[in-house]
Amino acid sequence: MGPGAVIRRRTVLGAAAGLPVLDGCTREAEARWSGGWVGSHPERGHAWRDGGLAAAAAAEPARRVAVAIVGAGIAGLSTARGLQRAGIDDYAVFDLEDAAGGNSRGHAVAGLPCPLGAHYLPLPSPDDEALLAWLHEIGLAQSRGGRIVYDERHLCHSPQERLFADGRWHEGLLPQPAAPGAAAAALAAYRRFAADVATVSRELAFRIPTTTAPWTSGHAALDTQAFAGWLDARGHRDASLRWYLDYCCRDDYGAGAEMVSAWAGLQYFASRHGFQAPGDADQQPEAVLTWPQGNAWLADKLAAGIGERLHCAHVVTRITTGRHELALDVWDAAAQRPRRWLARQVVVAVPLFIAARVFDAPHPALRTAAQVVPHAPWLVANLLLEQPLLPRPGAPPAWDNVSLGSTGLGYVDARHQSLSPDAAVSGPQLLTYYRALGGRSPQELKTQRAALLSGSWRDWTRAVLDDLAATHPDLPSRLRRADLVRHGHAMAIPVPGVRGHPALQALATPRDRVSFAHADLSAYSIFEEAFHRGLQAAARLGNRG
Ligand SMILES: Cc1cc2nc3c(=O)[nH]c(=O)nc-3n(C[C@H](O)[C@H](O)[C@H](O)COP(=O)(O)OP(=O)(O)OC[C@H]3O[C@@H](n4cnc5c(N)ncnc54)[C@H](O)[C@@H]3O)c2cc1C
Repeated sequence: MGPGAVIRRRTVLGAAAGLPVLDGCTREAEARWSGGWVGSHPERGHAWRDGGLAAAAAAEPARRVAVAIVGAGIAGLSTARGLQRAGIDDYAVFDLEDAAGGNSRGHAVAGLPCPLGAHYLPLPSPDDEALLAWLHEIGLAQSRGGRIVYDERHLCHSPQERLFADGRWHEGLLPQPAAPGAAAAALAAYRRFAADVATVSRELAFRIPTTTAPWTSGHAALDTQAFAGWLDARGHRDASLRWYLDYCCRDDYGAGAEMVSAWAGLQYFASRHGFQAPGDADQQPEAVLTWPQGNAWLADKLAAGIGERLHCAHVVTRITTGRHELALDVWDAAAQRPRRWLARQVVVAVPLFIAARVFDAPHPALRTAAQVVPHAPWLVANLLLEQPLLPRPGAPPAWDNVSLGSTGLGYVDARHQSLSPDAAVSGPQLLTYYRALGGRSPQELKTQRAALLSGSWRDWTRAVLDDLAATHPDLPSRLRRADLVRHGHAMAIPVPGVRGHPALQALATPRDRVSFAHADLSAYSIFEEAFHRGLQAAARLGNRG
C-alpha cells in the first residue's frame, strides 16, 4: 500500500468500542507493524486487589523505617525530596512499576525517547515559589535582573500548536470557520467567553496549586454544576467555542464538558492566563516546558537523590495500622516474594481508590472519597514512522497537532525540540498520540474503559490510525511500530461536587500516622498539584521532627 491509502471506519467490536477494521488493501501494511502494550503490569495491580498475596508472613525479619512512602509518582517523589530537605533520610519509597514517575514516566522506541503519559509543564505563576525554587535548583530557571529566564532548550519551540480543519492546518487551536458569517459569530462568541472568564476571575480566586485559593460559596456554587450546563445558561452555544472548550476539558481532565464541573472548566483558564480571542493583544499559546520523553525528565530529577531508598517493582498490598507503627505487606515482584516493612509514618501517594483497598481498616473519609472521585481512562500511542509525514496545506508542523472533530486529542512530535535542521524532513519520526476516554457521561466512561481493557493492541492501533488517517492519509503506510499504553484509571475527573467534597478535605489532614499526598486530593491531575501535595505531606512530617 502506498501513501494515500486511507483506513476506512468500519466497526468490528461493536458500536460501544468503536474500533475499526482494516480492509484488504491495508492488511499488507498491517503485517509490517510491530509493537505491543507497554508501561504497566496489570498482574501487579491484582496483587493489591487480592490483598492477601504478601500477607503470608515473610520468612525474613521485617525492616523498619521512619517514613514509608507508597507510590513513586510525582507526589511520592516530591514527598521524598521534601523529607530530604527537612533532614529526614530514614524513609523508603515503594512503587509497583519498574520505574518511578507514575503517569509521568518515559519510554523509548527504537532508541528515541517519548512519554508514556504527561508531556509538559506550563511555566508556573511567579506566586508558585516552591515550584520555582525547585526549577531554579535543577537549572531550568534562572533569575536575571528581576526576571525569570527559562532554559531555551526546554521551552517548547515555535510553532507550538496547530489545528487541522477544512482540509488545511491553521495556527493555534481555536477553530476559525471559513464561512465569513460563521467566522464573525465564532469571534463574537470567543470575546464573550473571554469577558465572562475575566469577570469570574475578578470575583473569585483561581490558583495553582488549588490549595492556595480560598474556597468560597462562589466556588462551591460553580462546583455543583456541570461546565456544559453553566455554558448553556450563559448562552455560550457557538459550535467552535464549544468544541474548543470540550477539547480543553478532555485534554486536562480526561472527560468532556458535560462531565466536569463549572469550577473545573473555569479553573482551566482562570488559574493561568485567562482566555484570549483571536486577534486580542496578548493572544498566544501559553509557554510550556517540554522534553522528548515528556515529564519523565522532571520525574528523573525529583528521583535523583533517593538512591537505594527507592524500591521499584514493590507492590504495597496491605497496610495494617498498629498502635505505634504501621505494618506494610509488600510484594517484591522482581524476587517474587513477600516482604514486610514497619514504619512510624506512612505517606500514601497512590490514587484514592487503590488506597481504600490497601488499608486493613480504611478511614470512612477514604472509603467515601474512593467512591466519589471517578477516574478517566486514557490511551497513549507512541508511533514510529519510517519517514516523516507528507506535508498537508497550511500551517507548518507544530509540537502539538490537533484535528477538529477527532476522537483523539492529536499528537505531539517527539523530535520537535530537536536542534537538528533535517529532523523534520528525513529519518524516522516518532509521534505520541493521546486519547482521553472519560466520555460525556458515567455510562460512556464505563463503556470506554471496558473497550480499552478488552480491545487487543492491534484493534487499538487500528483505531488510532483510523483517527489520524483523516488528517494524514499516508500515516498508516509509514507506521513501523506502535507502543501503546492503557491507563485504566489514569486521572481524577473533577465531576460536579467532588472538588469541594468534605471527604477530600478530610483527607488533607493527617491522622493515625497516615498522610495522603496524590493529585487525587485536588480532584484533578497535573504536575503542580501532585508536586505540592507531596511537599505538603513532607512539611507536616518535618514539622513534627
Ligand atoms: C496520558 C496522561 C497525560 C498527562 N499529561 C500531563 C501533562 O502533560 N502535564 C501535566 O502536568 N500532567 C499531565 N498528566 C497528569 C499526571 O497524572 C500528573 O502530572 C502527575 O504525574 C500525577 O502524579 P501523582 O503522583 O499524583 O500520581 P500517579 O502518577 O498516579 O502516581 C501514583 C504511583 O503509585 C504507584 N502505585 C499504585 N498502586 C501502588 C501500590 N499498591 N503499591 C506501590 N505503588 C503503587 C503507581 O505505579 C504510580 O507510580 C497526564 C496524565 C496522563 C495519564
